[in-house]
Amino acid sequence: MNAVPPPNAKWLAALAAALPEDVLLTADEDLARYSRDWSGDHFGRPLAVARPRSTDEVSALMRCCYREGIPVVPQGGLTGLVGAAVAAIHGGEVVVSLERMNKVRSISAVDFAMVVEAGCILEDAKNRAEAEDCLLPITFGAQGSCRIGGNVATNAGGFNVLRYGMTRDLVLGLEVVLADGRIWNGLKMLRKDNRGYDLKQLFIGSEGTLGIITAAALKLFPRPTQVETALVGLRSVEDAMALYARARRECSDLLTAFELILRVGIDIALHARDDLKDPLGDVYPVYVLIEASAGGRVDLASILQDFLAGADDLVMDGVVAASRAQAEKLWLLRETMVEAQGRGGRYLRTDVSVPISGLADFVTDALSSLEKSHPEALAVTYGHVGDGNVHLNIVPPEGMGPEAVVALFHETEKVIFEALDRSGGSISAEHGIGRVKQKAFLDRIDEVSLDLFGRIKDALDPSHILSDGRIMASRPGSGYR
Ligand SMILES: Cc1cc2nc3c(=O)[nH]c(=O)nc-3n(C[C@H](O)[C@H](O)[C@H](O)COP(=O)(O)OP(=O)(O)OC[C@H]3O[C@@H](n4cnc5c(N)ncnc54)[C@H](O)[C@@H]3O)c2cc1C
Repeated sequence: MNAVPPPNAKWLAALAAALPEDVLLTADEDLARYSRDWSGDHFGRPLAVARPRSTDEVSALMRCCYREGIPVVPQGGLTGLVGAAVAAIHGGEVVVSLERMNKVRSISAVDFAMVVEAGCILEDAKNRAEAEDCLLPITFGAQGSCRIGGNVATNAGGFNVLRYGMTRDLVLGLEVVLADGRIWNGLKMLRKDNRGYDLKQLFIGSEGTLGIITAAALKLFPRPTQVETALVGLRSVEDAMALYARARRECSDLLTAFELILRVGIDIALHARDDLKDPLGDVYPVYVLIEASAGGRVDLASILQDFLAGADDLVMDGVVAASRAQAEKLWLLRETMVEAQGRGGRYLRTDVSVPISGLADFVTDALSSLEKSHPEALAVTYGHVGDGNVHLNIVPPEGMGPEAVVALFHETEKVIFEALDRSGGSISAEHGIGRVKQKAFLDRIDEVSLDLFGRIKDALDPSHILSDGRIMASRPGSGYR
């Protein structure tokens, strides 16, 4: 079926009349920056980009879009990896970039809470918390680019989930502009509030499909004064998970990260940067990057040293960072591996989770199935395994043609997801569904959940103008969308 062209000129005129002059960008050269995501794999063609400076301007924008039926896509830092924040390729969606709403509205070291606008870059919010001797614990590789609204809309995870939880666990309240332009003020700082339905939960992880988040009240924690970092080499993923179970207890539950890296990831990082050295004296099949943090009078260094000394049945070799700079070097290995996977071109990303107790079996099952079905593919395995979360990515062999690469990604993803189904896992631990994981998601969702998803969407966005075709399929009959 041919796409029906959107009524662009009429919509642009309506938007221009509804918004102050400098909110709307329409020139091709201005739109380019908002058209492609971090990975470069996902791109679109926005009809226009709106850059509101206030919640009232977002509200005026949405009132106009609701009246005219103009499709809208909220956008943060474009680091989401499932193709949800870029406009559709047909050129009929308006991107709403929150980048100009980037203030910290308030922060309290007594409440251990801050209120941050949706466009604030995560790292800026973290630095502001640190200036008050507090910690905003959301931490991951994209923190210098992603924005708070994007973090809430994707329910972001990261390295510290095992101690502090996902973004969902850190949100006290939200301010959201609804599809019809009304402002829902749920910006509470209350730790306890059982007055009926917890509406904020609907918007957390909704990937822009239910409302535009304009601000969030977030939990803070005392800033740790001690951080200890170690990298250890192990024989197997089974041993890594046994080490994790022991570490939680023996390190007094002070772990803040437990990152698994299979050797191939270390090789990728070493190949990418000359200034990185093989971290241990020998080569091991499996590595774990461990971080523990504490404040006050805890002797954290001794706790970690004693734990590692007592785990010599599992740990083949290891290094404990003697300084912050050495710790940063160990983390650099992890970050470089993530970035360098894509240097040769596209690669398949997966972001799956299984119960922690089933993680080793899942990795063994998936890797042996891949070895049988696609021995030519390079499987790169790492993850936040303290949360049962693994990235099992596929790098195609050098020189493989584009069509063969697409087929390889399709087939290997199927193999990985089948192993995941055998383990009772989730196809999306952190990154969400967006457009990229939609088919796999819809293939697995049960009828009752699907019905409830549809009813929630219809209730909050009756004309499906918000991020149509993300998470759920486009509504039948929505024409060109
Ligand atoms: C190197 C790298 C490492 C990463 N590591 C992790 C990790 O460890 N854990 C993890 O969870 N993720 C990780 N990610 C994924 C990504 O950074 C997160 O999903 C992040 O939360 C996205 O934020 P963003 O501002 O870039 O959002 P965008 O990519 O701009 O948008 C993501 C989604 O949120 C919606 N959205 C954005 N802003 C709003 C708003 N104000 N209101 C409503 N909807 C909105 C968009 O429409 C889209 O659906 C990583 C990404 C990269 C590139």
